Amino acid sequence: MEKIIFIVFILFVATISAEQLTPLAQKPNWCSLQRYANTITAAKFEQDLQEVYVPDGSWKNWITITPEEAVIQPYPDAPPEQALHLSLASSEADCKTVPRYWKRKSECEPLPGKPLAGIKIVLDPGHLGGEWAKMEERWFRIGTSKSVEEGTMTFITARHLAKRLRALGADVKITRCGLGPTTSLRPAQLRAAAIQELKKEKVVCTPHRVKKMEEALFYRVAEIHHRADWINKVAKPDLVICLHYDAEEWGNPKQPKLFNEQRLHFLISGDFSEGELINEDVRYTMLIKLLGRTHHQVVEMSDDLAKAFAADTGLPPFTYHNPAKARLASDNPYLWNRNLLATRLIKAPVVYCEAYVMNDREVFERVQLGDYKGRCQVGNKCLPSIYREYADAVAKGITEYYGNKL
Ligand SMILES: [Zn+2]
Repeated sequence: MEKIIFIVFILFVATISAEQLTPLAQKPNWCSLQRYANTITAAKFEQDLQEVYVPDGSWKNWITITPEEAVIQPYPDAPPEQALHLSLASSEADCKTVPRYWKRKSECEPLPGKPLAGIKIVLDPGHLGGEWAKMEERWFRIGTSKSVEEGTMTFITARHLAKRLRALGADVKITRCGLGPTTSLRPAQLRAAAIQELKKEKVVCTPHRVKKMEEALFYRVAEIHHRADWINKVAKPDLVICLHYDAEEWGNPKQPKLFNEQRLHFLISGDFSEGELINEDVRYTMLIKLLGRTHHQVVEMSDDLAKAFAADTGLPPFTYHNPAKARLASDNPYLWNRNLLATRLIKAPVVYCEAYVMNDREVFERVQLGDYKGRCQVGNKCLPSIYREYADAVAKGITEYYGNKL
């Protein structure tokens, strides 16, 4: 009897482990990784795992690399017959072409006066903005001031950037056509998932907590999944640019704390931690990212963007101090490897910009001035509209990456 109970218990634990997924994630189809058979050598695979994607070394818990193959366990303690055997190329020269729809720089054909001709770019203005900004906690105001909304600011920036990139020949799409969500899901439809999440976190399900969790799953998870799906399946661009404005904790949004600190950094998919990789979908998407081989290109692009942005604005780099959260991606202090949902789910190369600090005093003043042509006095400086400055810097960096100067 005891033995039977023990077996039932083991089966129960195995089922739990097999189904450990992040909220709203689909169970991965591990066999689809076979598309990448013989596209990478054992040495490169191990190097990318150790140096970029899982520098804490925890990939060894579920991947075994031999010169011929990578043996990948889809879930903890999976029986050997469930393991995925991915053949590895015997040398760089023997590597098969990586399956991808995006063009690399060497495959682009610029035209005179159109340095970005034929390049398909998706702009993703982060967050929702407008009437949704309070719910997504990307909103503050001082007294009767104009409200500061990240999702509105990123959208204005995206529209300026789209205009500039189109003038340079690029085929540009924006993930949203206005302020608000792209997913048709709404918080109330995510009640079951919200309760499941709270239970997983061992938190009592009060009505307030359920509501907050429904909202977070809506704007932070469902919306990002929906945008990534559209990018991966419909838009299929050569490049994605995610636009964000950074912030310091502002506390009460009606009496926000202001700072004198602006900064800039670029986030590149990587630095997955052992805790994050407990989830089966995270392990799978991390491998899709690694095998898609976009990292090097994204580092080069982000490097050009950081240089252009810093030269135009003088913004200093942001520094993370916890390696479990982010690690430097190169010797450029503006570039960080970090595991974010958007950069992980989007398969094409993603440049992810985090610029300024919304609750910096000067930025707050610039937001109050709105979007304008030319320059305005901000304190003792004469500055362009923050949205146009951001768009100009990104357009300049992208053009430089593709081998031209603006
Ligand atoms: Zn943001």
